[in-house]
Amino acid sequence: MWSRPSGFLTSSMSSEHNGVKNVQAGSVEARGIGQHAATTITYAPAPETVKVEISQRYGHFIGGEFVTPRDKGSFATINPATEATLAMISQGSEQDVDAAVACARKALPKWRALPATERAKYLFRIARRIQERARELAVLETMDSGKPIRESRDVDVPLVAAHFFYYAGWADKLEYVRLGTPSTPSLREGRSGMDSPRGARGYPETARGYPEPVGVCGQIIPWNFPLMMCAWKLAPALACGNTVVLKPAETTSLTALRLAEIFQEVGLPDGVVNIVTGDGRTGSAIVNHPGIDKIAFTGSTEVGKKIALAVARASGAGASPKGRPKKLTLELGGKSPHIIFDDASIDQAIEGIIQGIYFNQGEVCCAGSRLLVQESIIEEVRKKLELRMASLRVGDPLDKNTDVGAINNKAQLDRINYYLSEGQKEGARLCVPGLGTNLGSNMGSNMGAPSLREGRSSDANDGKMLIDPSRSEGVSNHVLNQLPKKGYWCRPCFFYDVQPSHIVAREEIFGPVLALMSFRTVEEAITKANNTPYGLAAGVWTNKGSKMFEVAGKLKAGVVWCNTYNRFDPTSPFGGYKESGFGREGGMQGLGAYIA
Ligand code: NAD
Ligand code: MN
Repeated sequence: MWSRPSGFLTSSMSSEHNGVKNVQAGSVEARGIGQHAATTITYAPAPETVKVEISQRYGHFIGGEFVTPRDKGSFATINPATEATLAMISQGSEQDVDAAVACARKALPKWRALPATERAKYLFRIARRIQERARELAVLETMDSGKPIRESRDVDVPLVAAHFFYYAGWADKLEYVRLGTPSTPSLREGRSGMDSPRGARGYPETARGYPEPVGVCGQIIPWNFPLMMCAWKLAPALACGNTVVLKPAETTSLTALRLAEIFQEVGLPDGVVNIVTGDGRTGSAIVNHPGIDKIAFTGSTEVGKKIALAVARASGAGASPKGRPKKLTLELGGKSPHIIFDDASIDQAIEGIIQGIYFNQGEVCCAGSRLLVQESIIEEVRKKLELRMASLRVGDPLDKNTDVGAINNKAQLDRINYYLSEGQKEGARLCVPGLGTNLGSNMGSNMGAPSLREGRSSDANDGKMLIDPSRSEGVSNHVLNQLPKKGYWCRPCFFYDVQPSHIVAREEIFGPVLALMSFRTVEEAITKANNTPYGLAAGVWTNKGSKMFEVAGKLKAGVVWCNTYNRFDPTSPFGGYKESGFGREGGMQGLGAYIA
């Protein structure tokens, strides 16, 4: 259902690959990069022209109404590509969370008792309204988050609508949800496996003989896919008859609040969805609120652990309204392996690698950030990757030609830069295609331009020069586009000569940074791939079906993509193993978290 934004493929093809020059605008010039002859295209700007209205300040959305914002306790949300303030956002207090939970509780009895087909109608209406307002939502998402307009327009917003459509379809079919035989004894309660009503029908038996909602759900989401995470959280919760208090991330609240306008437009009953904005303190108030039955969180493993602890601690009496332990699902970080076997179609794999790690600036929990390439083809892959990456356009996210936008926030850029410098200090070699490598001009890679040296940071180590992908100027206009003077930028780059012990091979960077490693045998690939505390996703490239199934079956990852990467679909469950969290979102399995 989602195809790669076309410009991603066509923005600059190497003449070596297909001999066809794809000219979109401006002039074409061939220039040698190392041994390869790359064709680079100069683009005319293609700015998105839709203007969106943004208020100066926003209050929370509680009980179906926007609360009048107060000056006190608000913070700016900025456009990370320009550093300009877009609006002031309210910092939710404990009282605000309290008010939102009260409204959600009040709305619950009527909403859950509504005939399922009626609940579905609201979800269908929301989905259609998202489609109608798609362009506005995409522009706003790009302005507030820094992601390229082509991605928000062609990936994020269509998937948001698709998610609401998909779960609208489930609302009146919940008795057909099959979640498998319960694995915990408490759920079986003396009944055995398939004989139990749950075993046969999949959901726990309830008084009405029909799946019941969990109750009031607290949902806390991150900044990398602001609107898409709203949809992943809200659609299944509402379909099952739950009510919600949702908190967007502090840097990206605007599209969630725009979605609240849509809820008003479609007449969603007051209090069914409440949105409280704010930072971690607001999130913590939601997690600890005794009026909430379930917490769903997507974000960092660090915060996920804190939330798990808080929920476990509170799980005595009074933990939730019925004195039951709060339910919890966690969607956390990852360091996903992307395995390329020597029998794979390499040119296609290169596109998959690019899609896997540079989509959304690499700020993707399931990003294919550990590239494992079979030793016999590693040089070929590295060269082709370098060539292809030099054609990625970094810059104004509102320009339709842009492939890689701005990093979401300053703290995140600092974190990425920390890893770039630590990685180089540990001895991994950094390559920023078009900008150079940290070994200088004579070490086999592409760059010999003297201007390179000026861009290197003085933070030299062991006589090696460190390079800085956030440098604004390119080596040459023809090879690299200039980066805007303001904003948070990091050019796509990769480390090679990486050891599994290196920090860049172990820790989630959450940026456009890839770690390239090699393996020799299938067994070694599997061992290396699973050698991580995470287990969210993985990718396998091979032309052999048997190898594909063997490897996919042995990878400890919630999602395994074969000969593709970063494909999302509402029908497909998504979630992690180990420190990547637990619970699934999407598909029939995604309903499990929202059925009591
Ligand atoms: P974060 O985990 O701090 O924030 C995610 C959400 O949790 C935000 O809405 C935030 O306000 C909220 N939050 C923060 N502290 C909380 C607390 N104590 N209780 C309840 N809610 C709380 O993520 P971040 O600081 O924005 O990013 C840090 C790192 O997290 C990134 O570098 C990246 O590695 C990772 N990350 C992962 C994802 C993902 O989708 N898995 C998304 C964003 C960030
Ligand atoms: Mn912002």
